Amino acid sequence: MIISMNSEKNIVTRFAPSPTGMMHVGGIRTALYAWLWARKNKGTFILRIEDTDKEREVAGSADHIMAALGWLGIAYDEGPDIGGPHAPYLQSERLSLYRTYAETLIQKGFAYPDPYTDEELQQFREKADDEKRPFLFRDHRPETFGTWDGTKPLRFKTPIASYAWHDVARGDLSAGVEAVDDFILIKSDGYPTYNFAHIVDDIEMGVTHVMRGEEFISSTPKFLAVYEALGLTPPIFVTLPPILGPGGTKKLSKRDGAKDVLEYRDEGYLPEAIVNFLALLGWNPGTEKEIFSPEELIAEFDIARVQRSGAQLDTKKLDWINREHIRALSYEKQEEGITAHLPENIRELPTCTTNRIHSLVPIIVERIEKFSDVRTMAESGELGFFFSSPVLDAEKISFKGSIPTETRGHLETARTLLTDIADSDWDIAMIKDRIMSYADTLPKRGPALHPLRYALSGREQSPDPFTIASIIGRIDTLARIDTALGILA
Ligand code: GLU
Repeated sequence: MIISMNSEKNIVTRFAPSPTGMMHVGGIRTALYAWLWARKNKGTFILRIEDTDKEREVAGSADHIMAALGWLGIAYDEGPDIGGPHAPYLQSERLSLYRTYAETLIQKGFAYPDPYTDEELQQFREKADDEKRPFLFRDHRPETFGTWDGTKPLRFKTPIASYAWHDVARGDLSAGVEAVDDFILIKSDGYPTYNFAHIVDDIEMGVTHVMRGEEFISSTPKFLAVYEALGLTPPIFVTLPPILGPGGTKKLSKRDGAKDVLEYRDEGYLPEAIVNFLALLGWNPGTEKEIFSPEELIAEFDIARVQRSGAQLDTKKLDWINREHIRALSYEKQEEGITAHLPENIRELPTCTTNRIHSLVPIIVERIEKFSDVRTMAESGELGFFFSSPVLDAEKISFKGSIPTETRGHLETARTLLTDIADSDWDIAMIKDRIMSYADTLPKRGPALHPLRYALSGREQSPDPFTIASIIGRIDTLARIDTALGILA
């Protein structure tokens, strides 16, 4: 049979995670697509916590999920912490509702209590194994159903039917009669199974579009059978492509760097960059555009362009996207991000003033992909000289081929030229103008510029000496030149 899907109405999507541990990129991508689709259609996005498997539940996980969504700006309209017209949003607090639906199914003849003990079930299984046929509970379905007192599992009485349905991303799908067995609706501990609870909730919450991973495709005939038994139309299904590891062939695993999304926050990634990156991980905008603000994603996202094939997690691309988003930030935000990641040994220096950090912003932004790179820059000595005098190596002061007396001459000239600049005129343009007008009189600039750069930074590679001098100020610049001259003497 073919079940027709919901047609256009107020769009309602949901993210329905189980609180079983970390929030990895796959989960967040599901939330993101559901959120984008709701926002695009001015619909509703719901967060529902599916906590019916008490054995797998990890304490603190629901809060963690909410923190991750909060950080990324994936704001839900209804959810456990903010309430809403369909509260409560924790499945464990909705048990009476599942019972009501279960009673309806019992009355309609679609559900019955499982009469068997675990041992009996085990025997059926073994027998099927011995006979090399698949075990089907419905082969053992009792002739008459007892009344359900809640102490035994409640099972769904599956119609022997095949199912065909449409998935927005995967196209037309179907499954034969063997795909649906008499599965459990409510367990003997009183909790519903995922297979049942999520349907009840999607119905009650008016969910129009269900986005989730491909692990649910094989169970979809079960879901369709329940909708059919209840006489209701299923939502529209959008199966998201699997996220593949760096090789592009296998599903992303922890070993490939699948990590908790809040770790990206701690590493200095921007939430809007993660959102941009995840949006493109399985959705194709149909243009060359790769950098999107959340607003642009909302405008352009379309479930019709959710791809079918696996999407490879490419952290280089993430770094590039993050860099682009850092560059697009306001100066103030860039400064904030940099300041937060400056290591303690720099932060505690008296020269580490707000002014100095402020003037370093463009230099740092040009060199980082994520804010934690500020720490890496500091550790590799790319920042320290902006705050304290470098240790100089006599051998490295001169440009290659220059002799020390020649280098001394260049440094002394530079010193005189810079001493002549008034404090109020001390800026990069003035410094550069003075030094270059001298360097340009020489056959080569290197012999004059290299010693100056080295004297100021203690490094053979660094931003140009004018930039450094303008940031560290007149007094420090002259003092560092003096130190180099002293070493050369
Ligand atoms: N609780 C399920 C999970 O975390 C949700 C699946 C669904 O979205 O229906 O995988």
